[in-house]
Amino acid sequence: MASAPLATASAPRQQLTAPSSFSVPAGKFGLPPPEKLGSLIDGSKSVDHVLQIHAAILRHNLLLHHYPVLNLKLHRAYASHCRIRYSLAIFHQTPSPDVFLFSAAINTVSVHGLHDQALLFYVQLLSANVDPNEFTFSSILKTCSVESGKAIHAHVLKSGFGSDAYVTTGLVDLYARTGNVLSAQKVFDRMPDRSLVSSTAMITCYTKQGNLEAARSLFDEMRERDVVTWNVMIDGYTQLGFPGGALLLFQKMLAEEKPKPDEVTLVATLSACGQIGALESGRWIHAFIKNRHIELNVRICTALVDMYSKCGSLDDAWSVFKKTPRKDAVAWNTMIVSYAMHGYGHDALRLFDEMLRTGLQPTDITYIGVLNACAHAGLLDQGLAFFMSMRDEYGIQPKIEHYGCLVSLLARAGKLKKAYEMVKSMKIEADTVLWSALLGGCSLHGDFVLGKEIAEYLIGQNVTNSGIFVMLSNMYASVGDFEGVAKVRNLMKAKGIQKEPGISSVEIDNKVHEFRAGDRKHSRSREIYAMVRKISDSLRSCGYVPNTHIVLQDLGESEKERSLQVHSEKLAIAYGLITTEAGTPLRIFKNLRVCLDCHNATKLISRITGRKIVMRDRNRFHHFVDGSCSCGDFW
Ligand code: ZN
Ligand code: ZN
Repeated sequence: MASAPLATASAPRQQLTAPSSFSVPAGKFGLPPPEKLGSLIDGSKSVDHVLQIHAAILRHNLLLHHYPVLNLKLHRAYASHCRIRYSLAIFHQTPSPDVFLFSAAINTVSVHGLHDQALLFYVQLLSANVDPNEFTFSSILKTCSVESGKAIHAHVLKSGFGSDAYVTTGLVDLYARTGNVLSAQKVFDRMPDRSLVSSTAMITCYTKQGNLEAARSLFDEMRERDVVTWNVMIDGYTQLGFPGGALLLFQKMLAEEKPKPDEVTLVATLSACGQIGALESGRWIHAFIKNRHIELNVRICTALVDMYSKCGSLDDAWSVFKKTPRKDAVAWNTMIVSYAMHGYGHDALRLFDEMLRTGLQPTDITYIGVLNACAHAGLLDQGLAFFMSMRDEYGIQPKIEHYGCLVSLLARAGKLKKAYEMVKSMKIEADTVLWSALLGGCSLHGDFVLGKEIAEYLIGQNVTNSGIFVMLSNMYASVGDFEGVAKVRNLMKAKGIQKEPGISSVEIDNKVHEFRAGDRKHSRSREIYAMVRKISDSLRSCGYVPNTHIVLQDLGESEKERSLQVHSEKLAIAYGLITTEAGTPLRIFKNLRVCLDCHNATKLISRITGRKIVMRDRNRFHHFVDGSCSCGDFW
């Protein structure tokens, strides 16, 4: 009996990891001595194992609260196996819990997001006259809100834990989490010993605030960094729109060999590749994942699909998607949105059907993809039906992006009045994408009366977005109303609105080359401009007429032509042409909407050079092949 006291428990005995421990001569309860039981509990591999030990203890009438260590260990073991109810039952059955059990209970509910319960336990501890210790504070701080955090901070100081490394780390984390940079900074600066965790929390705080410089300088100062520190810094660059910085840091991480990148690092870095259009770097990371035998789970696969799609390679995106295991809604959404962005509306809708057949619920993102797909494929009735079913069947409230798709759908189909009415009646404020879709529809269908009406309305609305002014000016220019153009231009001047600088990039040999309009900073500038002139000559001999009316500056005709020739897209294309073999497709990335002249010119360039040119602008992808574009000239 003494050799196998647990043999009668329901689970098979071989599940116990150390049955030999039970052969130790038992104490007076017929059980191994408490310290042996303690190490058995600590070594438990499953909740069944914990249950067996617990059952044996109960059968031998061992009152757990007489053995605080076992009590605490059982509580923690249940919590670590996510059996919160069992672990709290132990807490509640203990007549007068000590500070360790209180702290453990607070920690358990904190990490499971039961904030109110954590505070309740803390209040109970105070009313039971138990003095909190460093574990109590660090546990409760994990779950505090701004207000309760301040109160706990006061308790910390009053109880003399103001310079405890463990507790102050919790405070920095609290203030970082709640976005209170000043307080986080104050606690952090006074820390006698900055821990890895507190420094990482402070870096998180800086990146959340958008202060990359402070984050990076602290990062560089740290003597020791773990994978979380690297992830926070890399993700900071990605989230704040500095993907180049993220990629450089990732390379540095690999060069230092320790720590090894984990799933979070790879997802953040792939997202950076997608943002900047760094296809070659993205491919390299894909190969790295395979070589290191990192599991290609749904999260990593989805990041790869997103990267390939945003880098303009839809084929690669699809082949990763096909092999993605246990696809969730995010995985399906990513592929549906990818198809829509690239203008493959029918494929996106086919995939949407397939997604519904798997029983997954569509989300608001799914519908952005679906409505975009309809807009790009010109499926008016279907689009309207989806818009209705999104609200009525799935209870998803339309956001500005959904309205954007709908307006674009209506505008493209020539239902301009209806689109305009809808924009005016929306409860959400319309954005540039919406207005430009509407104005684009007016241009496409030659409805300049409505176009002008919208323009007047917008001028009266005190808009400050430079994109809208550019659209307005184009609107007037395309009907030859140069008074209108001048009016818009003067208004921009008066309001001090600057046109957002356009930046185009192209990735050659694993390096992303960025160009601004008229840029001469590139080391091969001479050759680039020679190519620009060559292209212009070929375009002209094909009968191409530059769309000078879109130039906003007050210039002469030939200067306007020259200013169009050096738009950032054209410089990036020229660089791509001189650095790649004939026939190689070019992938260009533009931060703004591609302008009419660049769109027209790129169509012709694809024909003259026999190159496929994939261009991503702010709204969508354009695939230029043999003189035409996949967007059907509506974007
Ligand atoms: Zn342009
Ligand atoms: Zn296009």
